[in-house]
Amino acid sequence: MDNVSLKVSNLRTHFLTRRGIVKAVDGVDFELRRGECLCLVGESGCGKTVTALSILRLFDSPPGKIVGGQISYDGLDLAKCSLRQLRQIRGKDIAIVFQEAQSALNPVLTIGDQIIEQIKLHLPLDYSMARDRTISLLSEMGIPSAKRVLSYYPHQLSGGMKQRVLIAMSLSCDPQILIADEPTTAVDVTIKAQILDIFHELKASRQLSTIFITHDLAVVAEIGDRAVIMYGGKDVETAPVSEIINNPKHPYTSGLIECLPDVSKTADRLASIPGTTPNPIEMPKGCAFHPRCPKAMKICKQQEPPEIITSKEHKVSCHLYT
Ligand code: SF4
Repeated sequence: MDNVSLKVSNLRTHFLTRRGIVKAVDGVDFELRRGECLCLVGESGCGKTVTALSILRLFDSPPGKIVGGQISYDGLDLAKCSLRQLRQIRGKDIAIVFQEAQSALNPVLTIGDQIIEQIKLHLPLDYSMARDRTISLLSEMGIPSAKRVLSYYPHQLSGGMKQRVLIAMSLSCDPQILIADEPTTAVDVTIKAQILDIFHELKASRQLSTIFITHDLAVVAEIGDRAVIMYGGKDVETAPVSEIINNPKHPYTSGLIECLPDVSKTADRLASIPGTTPNPIEMPKGCAFHPRCPKAMKICKQQEPPEIITSKEHKVSCHLYT
């Protein structure tokens, strides 16, 4: 466990709704190793974001509830510890960069007030020291005139700048673990490249353990060390990124790779995986991917596939390997 920052075991997070039980996360296992960037990958609705929110229990409860599993961090089970213990960890030991920079920032507080308040909440620093720390963090994120930006309100910044401010805020208390939920989704390609550069630099300079959530395997190839492919609220394949890209085992992973744009080919349309992600209230019996799987067999419609370890660092849940 020495090399492991966080271990998620058989995590199940369900939402009790009027239409039924939404099994958003239904048996997810992974470990985050120290200093690595672990990518959680899949289409919308596969359970990536709810998995990340479950680590800090940042969902509305009710209707959401962790109904099973463990989240081991520093001798604590975050799935069951008290809210008081969790509040001490949130933002300080484990920080999160949310998907929507616009809604994650408070529109009526200046950038400086938002970051300085967070620093003062968790660290024994006075206002002036917290302010200096904020300026240095904003500069580290490549924000020009960081001192001036302290007095700006979120609406005065571009989307890319807001995303950098959010990353600065998440790093303000020197967390050990950073969870980044699709930080490159709502920005243009130039800003996306700059944000990925920031994550590269953070990894080299701070040895951060990062959980990076994305639907984009091209981003995974650029930033990730290992990847967990998620489908139907479960982890279906886990391996080092080079293995995932060059030797995918699960047909869903292969489908995601085939959807990557290939500039060497001229195609009228981008490839896509036929069908849509399953309704989490009515998951298909057996393998949840079987209605979309080009390799589905009879057993796939009847039995959930077991987890198979294909090599030391590679595991997959698929009947093709049983
Ligand atoms: S278990 Fe069957 S349906 Fe599921 S991914 Fe494997 S081959 Fe396809």
